[in-house]
Amino acid sequence: MKPLIVGNWKMNPKNQKEAKALFDKVKKGIKQIKNTEVVLCPPFLYLNLLKGISLGAQNVYFEEKGAFTGEVSAVMLKDLGVEYVIIGHSERRKYFKETDEVINKKIKKALAAGLKVIFCVGETAEEKDAGKKINILESQLKEGLKGVSKEEVKKMVVAYEPVWSIGTGNNCSVNETMSSVLYIRKIVAGIYNRQTADNLRILYGGSVKSENSGAYIKETGVGGLLVGGASLNAEEFIKIIKSAG
Ligand code: PEP
Repeated sequence: MKPLIVGNWKMNPKNQKEAKALFDKVKKGIKQIKNTEVVLCPPFLYLNLLKGISLGAQNVYFEEKGAFTGEVSAVMLKDLGVEYVIIGHSERRKYFKETDEVINKKIKKALAAGLKVIFCVGETAEEKDAGKKINILESQLKEGLKGVSKEEVKKMVVAYEPVWSIGTGNNCSVNETMSSVLYIRKIVAGIYNRQTADNLRILYGGSVKSENSGAYIKETGVGGLLVGGASLNAEEFIKIIKSAG
C-alpha cells in the first residue's frame, strides 16, 4: 500500500486566495508523484474551492441533519466529494471537550456516510510521565471503535499523535514511535483479530518536517504521516511527500 501523507491545515490560511495558492503549489509539485497518496484537510469553508487532490475535513458532527446550529454532517461532506475526515484530533479533545463517546459517534456516522476516517489517538505529556501511555491508547481505541465492525475498520486509518509532540517541535523518536505502533496493532488485534491489525494503516503525527519524515516511513512501520504546521509551507510539504515515496 502506498504511504499516505495527510496535511492538516487547521484554522489556516486566513483567506480563500491564500488557500487556493497553497493548494495549487502543492498540486503542481506532486503532479509526477505516483507512489504516495496525498490528502489535504483545509477548513470546511475552502473544501469546495479546491480541486485536484483528495480532500479531508478536520471535523464532522454525529447527527445527519436538523437543528444543530453551526455543525456540518458527514452526508454533506460526502456530497461535496470529500474523501476523508479527521476525528479525535487532540485539539478537538482539548479545546472542544470531545470525549471518547462523542468521537465514537462521529466515527460511526462518518463511516455510514461513506467517508474514510483518520482516527487520532495519543497520550499527553502528563499521561506519558505517569506511565499511562498504553492505558490511554487502549481506552481511546476501545472506546472509539465501539460498535465499529471489522469491515468498517478497513475504511479507517489510525493516526498516532502523541499530544506532547504536536506543534512543539519535539517529535517522537523513531524507537518510541515504533513501539507505540506495535502497541496500537496489539490493541486492535485484541478488539478484532491479527489480520485486521496487520492490515491497518497507522500514521505518525507530531512535528513532522522534511528532515525527520523519511525516517518515520523507513524505520517505524507507519504507513504514512499526519502533518500539521509543515503542511502550510508548500515546498516543505512537497519535500515530506517525496521523502515518503
Ligand atoms: C497535527 O495537527 O495533527 C499535527 C501533527 O501538527 P504538527 O505537525 O504541527 O505537530
